[in-house]
Amino acid sequence: MAIDALFRRVLTQRAAIQLMSATCILLFLITVFSIKLQAPEQLPQSTLFYLDDSQQQYQINTLPAATSGKWQALDRFQLALPMSETPHWVSFTVASLKSNEHWLLELNNPFIDHVSVWFIENNQLLDHYQTGDSQPFASRVMPYETFLFPVPKFDDELRVVMRISSEGTLQVPIHLWAESDFLVFNGEHSVLMGLFFGILFAMGISNLFFFVISRQPVFLLYAGYVLSFALLLSAMQGLGYKYIWSESPWMQKNSVSLWANATVFYAIVFTNVLLDIKSVSLRLHKTLNILAMAFAAILIASVFVPKSWFLEPFLFALCGICIFIYAVSIWGWYKKVHLARFYTLAWTSLLLSCLMACLEHLNLISLTISSNYLLMLGVIIETFLLALMLALSVNHQRRQLFRAQREALRKEREMRAVQDDVLAQQNNAQEELEYSVQERTLELEIALRELSEINRELEEKNTLDALTGIRNRRYFDKKYLAEVRRSRRERTELVVAMIDIDHFKKVNDEHGHLVGDDCIKFVAERLKKTLKRPSDDVCRYGGEEFSVIMPSTDIQGAHDLLDHLRLEIQNTPVYSAGVAVNLTVSIGLASAIMDPQQSEDVLIGFADQLLYQAKNNGRNCIVAQKFPDSE
Ligand code: GH3
Ligand code: MG
Ligand code: MG
Repeated sequence: MAIDALFRRVLTQRAAIQLMSATCILLFLITVFSIKLQAPEQLPQSTLFYLDDSQQQYQINTLPAATSGKWQALDRFQLALPMSETPHWVSFTVASLKSNEHWLLELNNPFIDHVSVWFIENNQLLDHYQTGDSQPFASRVMPYETFLFPVPKFDDELRVVMRISSEGTLQVPIHLWAESDFLVFNGEHSVLMGLFFGILFAMGISNLFFFVISRQPVFLLYAGYVLSFALLLSAMQGLGYKYIWSESPWMQKNSVSLWANATVFYAIVFTNVLLDIKSVSLRLHKTLNILAMAFAAILIASVFVPKSWFLEPFLFALCGICIFIYAVSIWGWYKKVHLARFYTLAWTSLLLSCLMACLEHLNLISLTISSNYLLMLGVIIETFLLALMLALSVNHQRRQLFRAQREALRKEREMRAVQDDVLAQQNNAQEELEYSVQERTLELEIALRELSEINRELEEKNTLDALTGIRNRRYFDKKYLAEVRRSRRERTELVVAMIDIDHFKKVNDEHGHLVGDDCIKFVAERLKKTLKRPSDDVCRYGGEEFSVIMPSTDIQGAHDLLDHLRLEIQNTPVYSAGVAVNLTVSIGLASAIMDPQQSEDVLIGFADQLLYQAKNNGRNCIVAQKFPDSE
C-alpha cells in the first residue's frame, strides 16, 4: 500500500505522459534505424535500361535494339516517372536464376495507370501481360496490392521489357523475387500491415463509439482523422484497391487526394478543438477554420483536376500544413496552452516521417527503407500519443466540469440557505401579521360589541323620559303604530287613553316647578304600577299629559282600571318641599278594532277629544267611548 502511494507520488500523471512520449519517440528512432523489412537487393549482374518515348513512336516490335545506344542505363533498379503521361520503356536481362524456383517480378507501386510486360528469350515471346490501375483490380495477373507478374521458365537469358505510363510522378522500384523469399517477405509484410491497419481502424471505430456515447465532437474529429489516415495509407499500400474499392478504377485514381485532404481537414479541426485555440487566439482559430475549409474545397476540386496538376502542389501544401500545425502546437506550448507540449511531441514523429515521405516522393532524398513504412510508423506513434492527449483532454474537461458542478452546487446550497432564511423571516412576519390582525380584529369586535351595547343603551335611553323614567312620546308613536296594525291584523280591540293633570299651571304657580316635577313623577309612578300586563304601556305624552296603550283589552276593563287610578290620585296627596299637593286627573279613553280603511291617527285623536270632553265635564273624571265608526 505504501509502495503504491510512493509510486503514485513519484510517477505523476505528467511524468507518466512524458515517459510515454519519450518512449514512443525512442521506439521510432530505433525502428527507423533497425528496420530490416525491405525488398531484396537489386540483381548484381543486371542493369536497368530506360528508353524515353515522349513521341510515342515505339511498339514492342519496333523498339531499338538493346545495343543501339538509345537505351540509357540507370544506376538503380527503380524507375522515377517524371510528370508526363507518355509511355516509358524499361528493359533488363536476367542471365541465370536459381534453378527449380518460381520467380516473380514486382513493380512496387500500386498507382501505375498502364503497365505492359513482355518476357522474351532469344527474340521469342514467352509471356505478355497487360494491366494497370486504370482497370478494375480483377485485371491483375496476380491479385496482389502492387503489380506482380510470374516470371516464365527460361533456359539461357531472359529479357524483360516493360512499358509503363502513368499520370503524375511515380517512384517504381522493380524487384525480382524468388518465390520463397517473397513468401517470407509477404508473410512479415502482411503481419505488419494487419497490425498497423488493425490498430488504426480499432482506434477510429472505438473513438466513433466514444463520440456516440459522449457526444463530444473531439472524439468524432479524432475518429475522422484516424480513419481518413488509415484509408489514405491503405490506398498508398494498394490495399484499399485490393479490399475496399476493387471495382472502381475511378476511386483508385482519386483515393489518395480524397483521403489525404480528408485527413488534413480533420487534423486541422482536431488541433483547433483539442488545443482550444479559440480561447487563446481568435485570429488563429479563424485561420485554422479557413485552412480546414480550403482543404475541404481542394478535396472536391481534386476529383475534377488532372492528377498531374494536382499532385505536386498538394504535396507542397501537405508539407506546409504539417509544418503549420507543428508551429501552432509549438506556439501553444510557448503560450502554456493545456496539452500543447505533448501535442507537439505527438506531431514530431508524424512530421518527421511525413516530411521524409514527401521529400522522397519529390525525388529530393532517397531512403533505405520504404517511405511508406516510415510514414506508417510515424502515424502509429502519433495516433497513440493523440489518443493519450484526447484521454487527458477529456479527463481535464471532466475535472473542470466536476469543479464547476461542485461550485454550482455550493452556490445553490448557499442560495437555498438564503432562501430558507428569507422564507423563515417571511413566515415569521406572516405569523406576526396574522397574530396582530387577529388581535386587532378581536379588539375591533370588542369595540363593536361595546359600541352596539352603547347604541342599544342609547336607543333605550332615547325612548325614556328623563324626568319620570317612563317611555316618552317618541316610543309611544312607534308603539301606537305597531298596535294599530296588530289590531287591524288580528281584529282585536285596542284601548288608548289620554290622561292630563288638572289645573297644573296653578300647581307650578303656587309651589314652583320643582314641586310640579315631583307631581308629574308621582302620577307617572302610579300609572306604571296600575298597568299589570306586559303588553300595556304608559308614556309621558308631553308636559303633564300621559298616554296609555292597552292592546287586546275591552273598554270596560280599561275604564275600571283607569278610574281606579283617577280615584287613587285624587285621594293621595303628593308631598314635596314640605307641602302636600292634591292632584286630580282627567282621562279620555277610546277603544276600537282598527279598520284598515281608517287612518292610524283616528283613535288617538278620538281619545284626545274625549279628554277635552272630560275637562269640559268639570275635570277629575273619565270619559270612555268606543270609536264611533269601528263597530
Ligand atoms: P287644565 O289642564 O285643567 O285645563 O289646566 P292646566 O293648568 O293643567 O292647563 P295647561 O295644560 O294649559 O297647563 C299646563 C301647564 O303644565 C303648563 C306648564 O307650566 C306646566 N308644565 C308643563 N310641563 C311641565 C313640567 O315638566 N314641569 C312642571 N313643573 N310644569 C310643567
Ligand atoms: Mg295640559
Ligand atoms: Mg292640565
